[in-house]
Amino acid sequence: MRVAVVTVGDELLAGDTVNTNATWLCERLTERGVRVERVTTIPDDLADIARVVNEYNAEYDAVIVTGGLGPTHDDRTMEAVATAFGRETTEHPDVVEWFEEHEGYSGDDLAEGTTHLPADARMLPNEEGVAPGCVVDRVYVLPGVPSEMKAMFEEIVEEFAGELTYTETVTTSEPESALLDRMQGVQAAFDVDLGSYPGENVRLKVTATDPETVAAAAAWLRERVDVVDVQEERAS
Ligand code: ATP
Ligand code: MG
Repeated sequence: MRVAVVTVGDELLAGDTVNTNATWLCERLTERGVRVERVTTIPDDLADIARVVNEYNAEYDAVIVTGGLGPTHDDRTMEAVATAFGRETTEHPDVVEWFEEHEGYSGDDLAEGTTHLPADARMLPNEEGVAPGCVVDRVYVLPGVPSEMKAMFEEIVEEFAGELTYTETVTTSEPESALLDRMQGVQAAFDVDLGSYPGENVRLKVTATDPETVAAAAAWLRERVDVVDVQEERAS
């Protein structure tokens, strides 16, 4: 399963808010074996959101959009997702019913637009806040507030599943440029994906769907690179 994550908000692009939603979603999806292939951040702009949602809906198995659900002028996401599908936003009977049953509200008590979703969307109730989310086709629209987003995602988590992968990391003191031959070697010898993450040391991350292949490839690397024991490093 290939997924794109779209985070909406001017404040993310201005650097005012750290995009923890994207990181959290990537982690949750990856640990379920789902491949996240895009993380895109876009402004609170109706045309921008509609264009990206339309494009990603055609390309990926699912799209997760967070942010811009509230009733204020800068919350354009629902309208934009409706536009991406050539639909209107309309008052959704499930949303009205949910507010009546759970919050004791009548539709008139709520800010205008709160009960509106793209036509024929599946409502996702907001257990931690007010504005509901929804699903249109394979596009999942979640709130921006992290606690609300996480609670809503956990309600639909079963809809995201892929092939489980296994990972081992080998940490080495050698510079990345010196490791190229061994990086090529391990990929030629084993059916694994290899990630290389330089920092104070270089972390070589071996990933595959078969745990024994991962263990064998990691062992192959450990025999051939100058290994740093990360535990010992931290202790000293
Ligand atoms: P509300 O109904 O409260 O307006 P919303 O779904 O419209 O919620 P936003 O208005 O986009 O969401 O964002 C509300 C707040 O949630 C932001 O001010 C920010 O603190 C936080 N937030 C939004 N997007 C993210 C994100 N990608 N990562 C972390 N925090 C975020
Ligand atoms: Mg908002």
